[in-house]
Amino acid sequence: MPSGQDAPSVEKAAIVTDNDRYTPLRARVREFCKDFPDDYWRELDRTRSYPEAFTRAMTETGLLGALIPQEYGGLGMSLTEASVILEEVNYSGGNAGPAHAQMYVMGTLLRHGSEEQKREYLPKIASGALRLQAFGVTEPDAGSDTTSLTTTAVRDGDHYIINGRKIYISRVQHSDLMLLLARTTPQEQVQQKSHGLSVFLIDLRDARANGLTVEPIPIMLNNETNKLHFDNVPIPARSLIGEEGRGFRYILDGMNAERILIAAECIGDGRWFVERATRRAKEREVFGRPIGQNQGIQFPIARAHVNVAAADLMRFRAAEQFDRDAPCGAEANMAKLLAADASWEAANAALQTYGGYGFAAEYDIERKFRETRLYQVAPLSTNLILSYVAEHVLGLPRSY
Ligand SMILES: Cc1cc2nc3c(=O)[nH]c(=O)nc-3n(C[C@H](O)[C@H](O)[C@H](O)COP(=O)(O)OP(=O)(O)OC[C@H]3O[C@@H](n4cnc5c(N)ncnc54)[C@H](O)[C@@H]3O)c2cc1C
Repeated sequence: MPSGQDAPSVEKAAIVTDNDRYTPLRARVREFCKDFPDDYWRELDRTRSYPEAFTRAMTETGLLGALIPQEYGGLGMSLTEASVILEEVNYSGGNAGPAHAQMYVMGTLLRHGSEEQKREYLPKIASGALRLQAFGVTEPDAGSDTTSLTTTAVRDGDHYIINGRKIYISRVQHSDLMLLLARTTPQEQVQQKSHGLSVFLIDLRDARANGLTVEPIPIMLNNETNKLHFDNVPIPARSLIGEEGRGFRYILDGMNAERILIAAECIGDGRWFVERATRRAKEREVFGRPIGQNQGIQFPIARAHVNVAAADLMRFRAAEQFDRDAPCGAEANMAKLLAADASWEAANAALQTYGGYGFAAEYDIERKFRETRLYQVAPLSTNLILSYVAEHVLGLPRSY
C-alpha cells in the first residue's frame, strides 16, 4: 500500500501541526524576511558582525516587541505567536538569536518587575530606544550548576555593589540593558543553594563606565559573546527585580519561555534543512540520475522531516500550556530537546546530501549547521534536560 497520497510538496508537508490560525502571521514574517536573504546572513557570518539592520527592522515592524503588552507599546502577542515569529526567521535562512534574547529576557521583567519598572523600560524597549538583549547567568566556575554562581551583589545604602565574573554572555556590546543573576545572601547562610540569588536589570552603559569590563570571545558561529568582569560596580538598588533572594525562581520562569522559543527556532532550522536537502536531492544528478532517487539519500531526509514534525507537536503543546499559565516545565524541556535533536539530525542529512558543496560557504548549509549545533549545548545542554526529566518527571534519584 502506498504510504500516502498527498501531493509531494515540502512546503505543505512541513507545516503539519498548526492550523490556519497562524497563517497570516507566518505570511507577515515571511514577507519581512525577504529583505534579509541568504547573502545578508552569509556576509554577517563572514565578517562576524551583528545583524544591526535586521534587529532595527524587527523593532520598527513591532515584531521584536511581540510579547510586550499593548499598554506598554508592544503587540501583546502570546508566546505561541512569538514562537511562530522566531521559527519563520530561522526557516527563512536567518538566525533569530538577537530577537529571541529580547523576547525571553523580557519575560522576567513582565512577570516579576514592578509597575514602575515596566513603565520605565517596556515602552522604550518596544520603540527601540533601549535594547534588552543580554542575560548574565553563566560563570566560569559554575556553568550548568547555576546555583553555585559566585558573583555577588552587596547592598550599600541605595546601591548594590557587584563583584564577580560571567562568561559567554551574548550581545552585551549591542544591548543597553542586561538582566543579571547574582548572589545577595552567601550560600552558607541559606537553606537551599537556590535561595539567596537575586535578579537585577542593569544599565550596561553605566556599568561599563563604573568598573564592568567586557572581553569578546571568538567562537565557531556568528554570535557576539563575552567574558564580563565586575569590579566593585555600583548599581541603583531600584534595579532589583521582585524580591531579594527569589531570583532563581524568577529566572526559572523565564527559562521555560526561552526553551519553547529556542525549540521553535530549531523547528525553523529543521524545516530549512529538510527543504534545502530535498531540493538539492531532486536537482543534483550523479550517475545519470538525481541523487534523491537513491534511498540512501532519501531516508535520512525523510527521517529528519518526521522528527522535526514530531518535535513541532511538543513545541506547540508546551507553548499553549505556557500561554494558559499551566505548568509546562516538562513540556518546555522536552520540546527543546526534541527540536534541537531534530534540527541537528536535519543539518547532518542536509550536509551529507550536499556532499562537498555543503562545506562551501556560498550554499549556507555549513553556516546553519554551525548555528543549529549550539542548541545541543546552550542555553541548557541536552544532558541537563534528560536529568530534569529523569528527576522531575520520572521521580528518579537526583544525580547531582
Ligand atoms: C554561543 C553561546 C552563547 C551563550 N550565551 C549565553 C548568555 O547570553 N547568557 C548566559 O548566561 N549564558 C550563555 N551561554 C552559556 C551556556 O548557557 C552554557 O555554555 C551552558 O549552560 C553550559 O554550561 P558550560 O558551558 O559551563 O558547560 P559545563 O557546565 O562545564 O558542562 C560541560 C558538559 O558537561 C555536561 N554536564 C555537566 N554536568 C552534568 C551532569 N550532572 N550530568 C551530565 N552531564 C553534565 C554538560 O551537559 C555539558 O555538555 C552561552 C554559550 C554559548 C556557547
